[in-house]
Amino acid sequence: MIEKIRRKLIRSFQLKREGMSKLTGKLCPKIQAKLDNEGFKSSDCVSIYAGNDLFEVECRHQRFAVNLSKRTCGCRKWDLTCFLYQHAISAILFDGSVPEDYVHPYYTIETYMKAYEPIIYPVASMEQWRRTSIDPLEPPKDKIQRGRPKIKRKRYPSEPKNPYKLSKAGTIIKCSECKKVGHNSRTCPSKKDKGTVSTNAKKTLTTNKKQAAGGARATAASDVDSGAGGSRTVASSAVDSRAGGSRAVAASSTGVRTSTAPLTISGGGANSERVVVQTLEKAIQRM
Ligand SMILES: [Zn+2]
Ligand SMILES: [Zn+2]
Repeated sequence: MIEKIRRKLIRSFQLKREGMSKLTGKLCPKIQAKLDNEGFKSSDCVSIYAGNDLFEVECRHQRFAVNLSKRTCGCRKWDLTCFLYQHAISAILFDGSVPEDYVHPYYTIETYMKAYEPIIYPVASMEQWRRTSIDPLEPPKDKIQRGRPKIKRKRYPSEPKNPYKLSKAGTIIKCSECKKVGHNSRTCPSKKDKGTVSTNAKKTLTTNKKQAAGGARATAASDVDSGAGGSRTVASSAVDSRAGGSRAVAASSTGVRTSTAPLTISGGGANSERVVVQTLEKAIQRM
């Protein structure tokens, strides 16, 4: 790679030297053409000499102050680019000087030649190098750095992590549930809605089954609350036995708090009534 660049530079430097040496004049050809164009435009300008290398240049109903010794113009183009524009050229021509003398040395053939002056010397291939009695240079010794050495090869950003697995990037995915494009069955919105409904339905189904089996089920025991004075208050417990049809509402003697439904029993007839009586008895004993 470096050899290629070196050989290219050898050719390029020589061609540029050769091309420029054929030219006569002071400025580089492109710059000269630009200056000629600006000189042509300067015919629109009218200059007045004010003394001390100061000129007033009128150009298309605008006036500019040109200073030839300081090399500045009111439009600031000369100051910024160090290149002559029509206002300055008009003043220079009025002064009887040559515009080429006022162009910055950067644009001259002389500077160009200086830039490409150094010769890149040709280098023979390694077989022709002269042998010496000195031992060949050894590369610097490896210094083992701290930490666990990296074993994995560094991959290109475009290289897949697993070369045996084809990437799905860029493919159009289609849902197997709703047959729509843009998502898969795992993230299907329609499935999500269905899923919540189905689980609720399942829950209700199972509870119904259990109730139907006849076993009375007490979901909550009596609500016991220990207050600051150590006195215990048991809230009223509403008992509802659907199968028996009887509804027993038992209130405690010191009923302060009333809970909505701490004890509910459903299903089972006489069996459930027995359970209710037993739990009530227990609650009374505790008091
Ligand atoms: Zn100007
Ligand atoms: Zn879907």
